[in-house]
Amino acid sequence: MIDVEVVVDDLPCHRCGDSLILAIRVPHGFHRADGELVSGTRTVPLCRVCDRDDPVAQGVLAFFAFHEQIDATTVGEGGTILTEWIDTVSNRPTPYLDHLNAEDHPDAPE
Ligand SMILES: [Zn+2]
Repeated sequence: MIDVEVVVDDLPCHRCGDSLILAIRVPHGFHRADGELVSGTRTVPLCRVCDRDDPVAQGVLAFFAFHEQIDATTVGEGGTILTEWIDTVSNRPTPYLDHLNAEDHPDAPE
């Protein structure tokens, strides 16, 4: 079980500028070239525009299209799809780190 913080403030999407449905902060870490572990948190946004083609996000987007929030009557349904989305996105590689790795290894095959 990892620590995940759900952020529901009125955050703008860094990709399109629309309001996010929500965002989560998940712990992440990587080893620098010298072997030192660098750890912290990263924010994973959920945007109704940018994430609509993401299969695992579609369930959450569909839920929030019908429900403004998760409450006592919808926590079963909403909690399940939200947990599935969190499990998936928190285990995806960080795009930012992929970019760093590409710069560290300019001769790496594309
Ligand atoms: Zn967006």
